[in-house]
Amino acid sequence: MGFMPTKTPVIWWVRRDMRLADNPCLAALVETGRPVIPVFLLDEVLESHGAAPKWRMGLAAECFAERLAGKGSRLIFRRGGASRELGRLAEETGAGAVWWTRAYDAEARSRDRAVYEGLKDRVDVRAVDGHLLMEPWSVRTGSGGPYKVYTPFWRAVKDRGPGGGWPRVSKIPAPGRWPESENIADWNLGREMRRGAAVVREHVRVGEAEALKRLRVFARDRLSHYGDARDDLARPGTSELSEHLTYGEIGPRTCWDVGERGMREGAPGAEAFLKELVWREFAHHLMWHFPDMAEANWRSEWDAFPWKTDERSREVRRWKEGRTGVEIVDAAQREMYVTGTMHNRARMITASYLTKHCLVDWRVGRAWFEDCLIDWDPASNALGWQWVAGSGPDAAPYFRVFNPESQAEKFDVDRRYRDRWLAEGRRRPSRDALSYFDAIPERWSMAPGDVYPDPVVGVKEGREAALRAYRDFKS
Ligand SMILES: Cc1cc2nc3c(=O)[nH]c(=O)nc-3n(C[C@H](O)[C@H](O)[C@H](O)COP(=O)(O)OP(=O)(O)OC[C@H]3O[C@@H](n4cnc5c(N)ncnc54)[C@H](O)[C@@H]3O)c2cc1C
Repeated sequence: MGFMPTKTPVIWWVRRDMRLADNPCLAALVETGRPVIPVFLLDEVLESHGAAPKWRMGLAAECFAERLAGKGSRLIFRRGGASRELGRLAEETGAGAVWWTRAYDAEARSRDRAVYEGLKDRVDVRAVDGHLLMEPWSVRTGSGGPYKVYTPFWRAVKDRGPGGGWPRVSKIPAPGRWPESENIADWNLGREMRRGAAVVREHVRVGEAEALKRLRVFARDRLSHYGDARDDLARPGTSELSEHLTYGEIGPRTCWDVGERGMREGAPGAEAFLKELVWREFAHHLMWHFPDMAEANWRSEWDAFPWKTDERSREVRRWKEGRTGVEIVDAAQREMYVTGTMHNRARMITASYLTKHCLVDWRVGRAWFEDCLIDWDPASNALGWQWVAGSGPDAAPYFRVFNPESQAEKFDVDRRYRDRWLAEGRRRPSRDALSYFDAIPERWSMAPGDVYPDPVVGVKEGREAALRAYRDFKS
């Protein structure tokens, strides 16, 4: 940094890094010894988010504002194009620097590039790592290119370790005068959630303290069995950290540490957990190197596949509404609508049913998840969909069609998952199953007493049609 008097404030543009611990950007800002002005923007990127991620991001920001206040700091809320607002704020406060934690998806990157170009001649502009264990360009194949297959990627990084942790910041120097802030409540970020917000809110845990608590509970009670339990649909066997990781309420290094400690102590599930954290890295690695991964078939030969794209088709409507008539698929869709998240195994089953049995374009499903998931992550979601559809790097081959019935028999042995999420035909539906009907739009005209429908696409016939389409496509 060039010369800057010690009173000159520095701006921390807070995005997906809402934590005090293990936060390299914040630690570096505090290290400058200058007053720090944290700012959160309702900018072009946040405006474009789906309903659930936008709402959940707002909850994260509100919670983080309180956390900062507890440290004698503040979170300034501003609305407008990122370049313009940050430029204004720098001018108003006389700030000498604008720093942020790096993002990796195409939309955020193009915004960040514009901010950099707009400000670099006036202030010190920097993007700092911290969202990932390792920067995407730092992992290379023998020939110097990016990895396209997970297992060699895993082998390349598993022993690398993320390096030391960062000290928890205990004090954040405040400026003599704070700039004006809007009130985040006025932004009404939950508008598009409509009546669903009240239902989903019961299932959401927000903020750094909750994230750290979840990690502790996971390390104590679940890590050892994680390898087997992670596929059980009905019992909580995973960490449930994805919503915190995506908003940066917890750092990936903090999670990695727990897995590594588990490895040292011989916890059988520890390696499986580290592997999942590396799937997240792999998704970001791919997203960085192939920025249109969320939009385009990663294997371009799939452009010629006859996916159905009509969002108003019966199959798509029924899939979104959780009434395909295939119980495990409907249970999955309803879990997402009520909790904002979905079990990983269920994501694969329901994505497979849409793209294979119904032959619907994976981008239709990707967009629906983008609207409904509170743990929406641009990279992991895109990779997940392309992986299931067969169009992605290292994807499940297309002909491997998940059979929803045998998946249900295997991973929902005693039907607890289906009974938790489905009301129709049950004498005493569960509270969660009933709450679905309070969350969905009334125009779907669904009621717990409805007769459960026949499959919109039968399990056997769908599989045959998918394989036929694939054969035709190949030939
Ligand atoms: C179609 C589809 C869409 C998906 N969309 C998302 C998404 O939008 N956001 C998201 O965070 N994950 C997504 N995933 C990955 C995975 O389903 C979730 O990360 C996982 O269910 C979160 O639960 P957990 O935190 O309890 O995970 P755990 O099993 O405890 O795993 C720990 C962490 O590892 C990471 N992780 C685990 N599995 C994966 C994976 N397959 N790919 C990438 N990272 C992984 C997550 O950050 C997770 O929090 C998707 C998967 C599929 C198949």
